[in-house]
Amino acid sequence: MRFYDPISNSWHEDIDGQLNLNLPEKVSMGNQFSVTYPFVDLHTHVRLNGGEDYKSLSKAAIAGGFGVLNIQPNTNPPLDEWDVLSNHVSLSKDELVKYLYTVSFFGGINDISSGSSAIRMTGFSTDGIRYNSQEIVESFRSKKPTLLFDHSQLHEVAGDFYTGTNLPNATRPYSNEPVAINRTVLLGLEFGFNKFHIQHISTAKSLDEIEHLRKLARVTCEVTPHHVFFIPEMIDNVNQKINPPISKDRDLLIDAVKKGFIDTFSTDHAPHPEKPNNFERAPYGSSHIEVAFSVYHTVFDDPQLVIRKLTVDPLKVLGWRYEDLGMKFPDDLIILNTEEEYVVDNSRFYSMGKNCAFNGYKLKGRIFGVRMNGKWVYWDGTFLDN
Ligand SMILES: [Zn+2]
Repeated sequence: MRFYDPISNSWHEDIDGQLNLNLPEKVSMGNQFSVTYPFVDLHTHVRLNGGEDYKSLSKAAIAGGFGVLNIQPNTNPPLDEWDVLSNHVSLSKDELVKYLYTVSFFGGINDISSGSSAIRMTGFSTDGIRYNSQEIVESFRSKKPTLLFDHSQLHEVAGDFYTGTNLPNATRPYSNEPVAINRTVLLGLEFGFNKFHIQHISTAKSLDEIEHLRKLARVTCEVTPHHVFFIPEMIDNVNQKINPPISKDRDLLIDAVKKGFIDTFSTDHAPHPEKPNNFERAPYGSSHIEVAFSVYHTVFDDPQLVIRKLTVDPLKVLGWRYEDLGMKFPDDLIILNTEEEYVVDNSRFYSMGKNCAFNGYKLKGRIFGVRMNGKWVYWDGTFLDN
């Protein structure tokens, strides 16, 4: 078994005897197994009210190798008041996964530093909320500047998909996203905001826009598994209806990751119990936190790159370290099998969301073991009793 340390960016070969890992079974682990830090996702949705809850989400996250999740504010009710946030914290308090929270940019909280230190806040977010230019200006005027996670979209412009599908839905201009990125960053700068994290980049024009805006502000960005895997011609089921849509620029996004332009990978895990089988009525989103690593590994075939983009790079966006979350290696670690191939079967998900865009696809690379707080919790597809 090999150890990749993303903090020092170094590989350590044949570590089986060197790290005292107390594996749940006496097996010899070959070099198809790599051990590393648990993954961090800057972009996760929880539903509650009969949808994905903290128990199901935590299991799904662990099965996917994730130990830290940054929850987005479009819950019901939305994360825009301190009492709602406190309720989420108490619902998740017994979980091994570390939960971080963004707060709605359009609600009643104006200063995230004024909350209880028990709530791990990472910034404001516009994700999952319809807003217009006037509303975002009012928020920039009234909120205390901090990191802003931006779902960049001109919501008043119609279109569920970009061109390239045979679907009846209206199509969205490719410039929708870069124009919205420009709007957010330039308006924010005028009101004292200077750290922006642009979520789920879907077009090459957005990359050009970010390159320009990086001369003016700290602008980081992420991609999601679906935007580096699909092109519009591949869309054949409603679980591939995602916002922003799948785009023709997939290969340009992959190149931008390889060149180091895109800061981090996220999941945008967006569970729905079941979508209506109708492209016009189906809601947006795909549930895939359990297979996100496999998608990235299949696309990039570069464990070092993929691990960095799922560990230290998202933490860098926050300005945090694992220690700040009470996590340390080797008490907290994951084991990856980088050679195993499998076909995605959503009926086996721990998530309550079965709406997986990748269902039926063959992927390579899988989470084999997870240790948290010094205890093995997941091994070879099964949760262990502790
Ligand atoms: Zn989202």
